[in-house]
Amino acid sequence: MKKLVVITGASSGIGKTIAKQFSKNNHPVLLLSRRLDKMEELELQNSLCKSVDVTDLEKMQEAIKEAESKFGKVDCLINCAGIMLLGDPKEQSFNEWNDMIDVNIKGILTGTNIVLKDMVSRNEGTIINISSIAGRKTFDNHAVYCGTKFAVHAITENIRKEVASSNVRVITIAPGVVETPLLSHTSDENIKSNYNEWKKSIESGLDPQQIASCIDFAYNQPQDVCIREIVIAKTKQE
Ligand code: NDP
Repeated sequence: MKKLVVITGASSGIGKTIAKQFSKNNHPVLLLSRRLDKMEELELQNSLCKSVDVTDLEKMQEAIKEAESKFGKVDCLINCAGIMLLGDPKEQSFNEWNDMIDVNIKGILTGTNIVLKDMVSRNEGTIINISSIAGRKTFDNHAVYCGTKFAVHAITENIRKEVASSNVRVITIAPGVVETPLLSHTSDENIKSNYNEWKKSIESGLDPQQIASCIDFAYNQPQDVCIREIVIAKTKQE
């Protein structure tokens, strides 16, 4: 059996696809998200599924401890959980801004805080943070979402530099539009329908498997080779 991989946001979309791929490649996997049933129904071999909110340090610590006692130390943490609540900054509620900051920024710090020190002491390990093309450029109605994803890029690159001498890799994957339920949580119906209208210009988003393949490529480089960042989008996306 290969080494333990932890995936947040594993109940849906990109995270679910990543979890399936690592399991297929004989890695034990710890699946984390709030919806336990969605993770358990995948029935992945050598897996542990735990209902954990990524902002809850204590619960994530418990889940990782349990997985490590079964499968050995975490070799790879993939921070994929995220929410995209698009909104007009003049109209959007403070709560929606707060939620995006909590899940998209603090949510990548929770697991990182738990596993990083140990990875550094072992001189191995990989942390992969799922950002977005919205972490590289701005879009209408994306102010706080973009803010959170720019932060993901900055935090990832900063930590990468600080642990590089220990041979630990910290990687950003930044997709353009991917076909997942991500948009469904946006509460403004007008913004949602404009987004879907705009999406017709690229025909469809990427398949989540294309993101999983990028992660496979980055993770399976030798430990002393770090693919620092991948930005991937449909060729027709602006
Ligand atoms: P989905 O909505 O399909 O998946 C989001 C995942 O995040 C779900 O598994 C959800 O699980 C989890 N999640 C949300 N909030 C929490 C929380 N508080 N605690 C734990 N888990 C949480 O969207 P995607 O798969 O598209 O999104 C995955 C990542 O990819 C996100 O970071 C997103 O920003 C990024 N991304 C997506 C793009 C796209 O076009 N789809 C483009 C660029 C980046 P649950 O609800 O069960 O907790």
